[in-house]
Amino acid sequence: MNAFTFVFLAALLASLGVRLWLAKRQITHVVAHRAAPPAQFAGRIDVLAHRKAADYTIARTAFGILALGVETGLLLLLTLGGGVQAVQDFWQVHLDGLAGGVALLVSVALLGGIVDLPLAWWRQFVIEARFGFNRMTPRLFFGDLLRQAALGVVIGIPAIAAALWLMERMGDAWWLWVWAFWCGLNLLLLFIFPTWIAPLFNRFTPLDDAPLKARIEGLLKRCGFAASGFFVMDGSRRSSHGNAYFTGFGRNKRIVFFDTLLGRLQPAEVEAVLAHELGHFRRRHVLQRIVLMFVLALVFLGVLGQLATAPWFFHGLGVAAPGNAQALLLFFLAAPVFSFPLTPLMSLLSRRHEFEADRYAAENASANDLVSALVKLYEDNAATLTPDPLHSLFYDSHPPAALRIARLQNPEAI
Ligand SMILES: [Zn+2]
Repeated sequence: MNAFTFVFLAALLASLGVRLWLAKRQITHVVAHRAAPPAQFAGRIDVLAHRKAADYTIARTAFGILALGVETGLLLLLTLGGGVQAVQDFWQVHLDGLAGGVALLVSVALLGGIVDLPLAWWRQFVIEARFGFNRMTPRLFFGDLLRQAALGVVIGIPAIAAALWLMERMGDAWWLWVWAFWCGLNLLLLFIFPTWIAPLFNRFTPLDDAPLKARIEGLLKRCGFAASGFFVMDGSRRSSHGNAYFTGFGRNKRIVFFDTLLGRLQPAEVEAVLAHELGHFRRRHVLQRIVLMFVLALVFLGVLGQLATAPWFFHGLGVAAPGNAQALLLFFLAAPVFSFPLTPLMSLLSRRHEFEADRYAAENASANDLVSALVKLYEDNAATLTPDPLHSLFYDSHPPAALRIARLQNPEAI
């Protein structure tokens, strides 16, 4: 323990305090507005659906508090409780050098996965199931887990080994090399995701609804957009929540619709939702996100470059001596505590992008169709229409429904 221990604990306590306070505000606000939907949604959202959305939000927020407690307990156990040191002591006897470092990182990641498992199970088979959203079977749940573990072995372990190797061999500027490697790996993963990774988890079939396809092609033409295919994904295997997204790069872009979305929306509404997604591309939000992610990674790795040789960093977090694998691990564990204040800034940027994409959709498709699609999606996903304003400001990647719809209906007024 040293002064840094107290800085870490103070930051952890502050972030915990803010998170608990916001969660409490959210629950209180949703409970207070549970009786009936806000006036502007009267007649559009059924009272029972509104109450279900309130109960769903409350259940998830309350469960989030429990999960936060478990995660914090694990973090303290691993750092100040000496967990990382104990795992390292264990491996030191059996392995050394790079293999020992990889073993340390993989063991701790595995430990985190095991602790998270009952939480994920509860989320899926108790909370999602209670509100009628779960479509997953226990067999699929464990199948997903195995597939994720296999991906971790095939991609994660070589990546960790490469990063540790660069740290060892590249001198003082190793963090620049690790950064370049990390950026390259992320671009590669983005590139192979649609064709190699996503099909491990879902089935993709070409969209065969001719009238809808003609509509979508018309929209793409109007927007000057090239895509290499439209696919329907069997999202209904896991959940009844609906969505649409793009993956891929350049001319290799794919448009993917969840079957649950197509089942629920009229063709004109699908077109409006797609126009919103196109807006994210056309306004360069996707590119901005990637660049921002890379810049943040550079800053974080630069900081790690300084910390990796500072004994106080290791002593402060319960590890006896500096080492590359320990540095990487402690940094992964502690960074979220210190980067927590960035959350509202990232949310703000994301909400601004959502407004821009909505505006793009209004210009290139129909604002009214987007409004009716949003109302249906909010109702189907049981997303609350009455979030606590501060909670929303802090966390929400999408603006509150009322605000989005008000802007869509009257873009000049706000
Ligand atoms: Zn969006």
